Amino acid sequence: MKYLIPDAIVPSVLEIDLAALQDRGLKGLLIDIDNTLVPWGNPQMDQALARWIETAKAEGFQVCLVSNALPERTQSFAELLGIPAVGRAMKPLSRAFRRGMELLGLPAGQVAVVGDQLFTDVFGAKRLGLYAILVDPLSTVEFGFTQVMRKLERRMLRRLARRGLVDAASIKSRLGRD
Ligand SMILES: [Mg+2]
Repeated sequence: MKYLIPDAIVPSVLEIDLAALQDRGLKGLLIDIDNTLVPWGNPQMDQALARWIETAKAEGFQVCLVSNALPERTQSFAELLGIPAVGRAMKPLSRAFRRGMELLGLPAGQVAVVGDQLFTDVFGAKRLGLYAILVDPLSTVEFGFTQVMRKLERRMLRRLARRGLVDAASIKSRLGRD
């Protein structure tokens, strides 16, 4: 269960405190695409989110996309943002996160993973010793399997909150759905 405890929970990528990450010695970000940067299946990224990536780069962060989406979709966003990407990542398997770290040229202790799913993004990150930031999903539209996982995810988050392992207020917005 310790691999399911995010280091930070924020409503949106836009609310990630980059200065606080730098204070922790974090220099690289491996960022999920679907429902983290772009509503699931959507072809377009919100300007504010694209600008946030630019800001992170300008602040000195190395940024790479790590997505379970097909390489074509992953690559189109990577090109748009001018950053590398690992597609068809099969998160939570370690391989893609390791590849992302390789592309960033950074060790585990300096890399944060940003994503909207507990069992793929957070679990994958924590197992490798990476800092894990959980964001609320941008959209509730998801394919069937993910919807099932969301139920389990909400159950787990409630359990973690009851045990005081995550801040109950920070997960409130995710839990209003069942
Ligand atoms: Mg996602």
